[in-house]
Amino acid sequence: MTSSHLARVLVAALIAVGLLVTSAMAAPRPLMKPILLDPSGAIMQPTPTPRPAGTAPRVGLQAGHWLSRELPDELERLRTSAGAFAGGIAEWEVNLDVAQRAAALLTAQGVTVDVLPATVPPAYDADVFIALHADGVAGSAARGYKLATPWRTSRASAALMTALDQAYGDITGLPRDDAITINMRGYYAFNYRRHVHAVARTTPSVILEMGFLTNPTDRAFMTEQADVVAAAIADGVMAYLRARDPADGAALLPVEYPMQRPARPGVVVRSAPRDGARVLAELDDDSRLVVFSARDGWYEVVVRGSWRVVGWVPVGDVMPTDEMIAPPASANP
Ligand SMILES: [Zn+2]
Repeated sequence: MTSSHLARVLVAALIAVGLLVTSAMAAPRPLMKPILLDPSGAIMQPTPTPRPAGTAPRVGLQAGHWLSRELPDELERLRTSAGAFAGGIAEWEVNLDVAQRAAALLTAQGVTVDVLPATVPPAYDADVFIALHADGVAGSAARGYKLATPWRTSRASAALMTALDQAYGDITGLPRDDAITINMRGYYAFNYRRHVHAVARTTPSVILEMGFLTNPTDRAFMTEQADVVAAAIADGVMAYLRARDPADGAALLPVEYPMQRPARPGVVVRSAPRDGARVLAELDDDSRLVVFSARDGWYEVVVRGSWRVVGWVPVGDVMPTDEMIAPPASANP
C-alpha cells in the first residue's frame, strides 16, 4: 500500500464516519410541542394552516355594547349589559367612535377591517380581534387603561397585547391600570367553547378598556382626543402585524396548562412575577390554580373559586393535577 493509497483509504474512512455521524444527527427526533390539553386530557389539533402569502390582514374592532340588545339567544343574558354611562355619554358611543376612527387609519394602510357590534360573527376568524370598552366605577378617582388576553392565551394574543400596550401607553400617555379582572379574561366574545358567536380559537384577541368613562380626565381624553386614542390602537395593531411571522401557525394556538395545586404549605399568589411583590392570597392544601401563562419561572394564575385573585406563583411552588377546570360564566365588562 502506497502512502497515497493509504491516504485515500483514510479519507474514505473519514468520509464514511462523517456520513454515519451526520445521518445519526439527522435521525428523526420527537418535535418539541407546547402542552395542549383538552379538558378531557386529549391533545388538541395540530398547527393551523397559515394564510396564503399576500392576503391582506383582517382586523376586527368590536365596539363594546353596541347593539347589545340584538345579541343572539345564546347571549340573551347580556342583552341588557349597556356598559358604563357618565357625563351624558354612553360607553358604546365612545367605543364605536374610536373603532370607526381606528378602522379608517388601518384601512388606509391596506388592512381589511370589520367594525363589529356586540354580536360577533360565528367563530370569527381574523388576524386580530380587539374588543374596545371604557371602564365605569362608582366614584370618579379611578383612571387608566387596562388590557387583557383571553382565558386561554396564545403566543399571538400575548404579542398583540404587548404591542398594543406599548403603543397605547406611549401615544395616549394614560396610566396603565394592572388590576385585570377575571371578567376581562372571561369576556363572552373570547369564549369559543361556550358560544357560537365568539372569536375562532386561533384568532389573536385582546380586550382593551381604553380609560375610565367615570373619570373626567379620561373621559375628556377619549371624547375630545378620540383621534389620538384611535391612532394609538392602529399603531399597536400595525406593530403587531409587522412583527409577527405569518407562517407561525403554532403561535395562534392557545396553550393550555393543567390545573395546579400548592406543592408545599405557605405558597402565596403575588401581584407580579417577582419575589417581594405584593401578596394577593395565601393558599392552602385545597387551593387550585388555573394557569393563564408562564414567564421567567412564574405562572400567571387565577385561584379557583376566588376568581378575583389573578396573580403570579413560582413554577416550583406548585404541581400539576389532572382535575378539570370549570371557568366562571362569561362576562361583558
Ligand atoms: Zn364595557
